[in-house]
Amino acid sequence: MDLVYPPRLRLARLPTPLEPLDRLSAELGGPRLWIKRDDLSDCAASGNKIRKLEFVLAHAKDQGCDTLVTCGGLQSNHCRATAVLGARHGFRVRLVLRGVPESMPDGNLLIDMLCGASIEYHAHSLIRGRDLEFLARACEKERAAGYMPLLIPVGASDATGVWGYVVAAEELSGDFRRIGIEPRAIVFATGSGGTQAGLCAGMALQDLSTEVWGIAVCDDAEWFRNKIVTDLTECANRYSLPVKPDDLAIHVLDQYIGPGYARATTDVFHTIKHVARLEGILLDPVYTGKAMHGLIQEIRQGRFRRGEDVVFLHTGGLFGLFAQRGELHL
Ligand SMILES: *Cc1c(COP(=O)(O)O)cnc(C)c1O
Repeated sequence: MDLVYPPRLRLARLPTPLEPLDRLSAELGGPRLWIKRDDLSDCAASGNKIRKLEFVLAHAKDQGCDTLVTCGGLQSNHCRATAVLGARHGFRVRLVLRGVPESMPDGNLLIDMLCGASIEYHAHSLIRGRDLEFLARACEKERAAGYMPLLIPVGASDATGVWGYVVAAEELSGDFRRIGIEPRAIVFATGSGGTQAGLCAGMALQDLSTEVWGIAVCDDAEWFRNKIVTDLTECANRYSLPVKPDDLAIHVLDQYIGPGYARATTDVFHTIKHVARLEGILLDPVYTGKAMHGLIQEIRQGRFRRGEDVVFLHTGGLFGLFAQRGELHL
């Protein structure tokens, strides 16, 4: 398949490993589980956002931008990856964060500050649902000060960012061929929809039958379907991505969100501890812990079965675990 990708900076350490989870598979007695280690895509900038930022930062350079402006929660992995990669590639970074820190900076926020991002904090009640408006205003301030900002939407999930996981699907296709599997499904945490949009399009382009299952950490399945089709439609128009978004199967499980975004039940923390002890794999309470917890429930309920191969995509997020250390009760 000769896909023409838009301009890309090589930022991530690729390919990431695809490894078996033998002990967890044996314990569950269901499908053979594999883990795609996108938590190893870098150190400070690790996780899924770096794959999207390869295309977004290339776009920023092409546009002559000198400043990256983006938005997220206080413990946003996306904002942290942007702060690190901005510093690494000579961009100024301005972050619009939802929430106000209560104590010493920790986890992702500590790294944002360490890497010199300028940060504005906004109370949840003010900014909820108005991300784009706040981002546009932050860009306006940058322009007034003589800079050239690029507005990056939440999670870098837009027509440019989705290419990160179109590329990842090509990488996975190579992994599958080398190992000799064609998995039934790939399962991961879905938050702003960009990872899922890229993988859905990418799997179709690779002619793989592997189903793409997002486990929602916020918002319902309907929201994700709309977001994914919207971003892919814009991508198809802007870059001639050869897929028909309306023809793609978009699988979202929205029953594992728990109390809300970035808030997890004790069951999720139990799964985080269990997987750390069984496999030496570290998950976080905001994304990967919830997704793994959901996957385990789905296997117990028989959605994925013995004889099938299932890949868990580890999307990173380790730093967020430190900010919730108290919940682990160690
Ligand atoms: C952002 C993020 C996700 C969700 O990815 P989206 O592309 O925003 O849906 C999953 N896991 C981690 C660790 C993340 O930081």
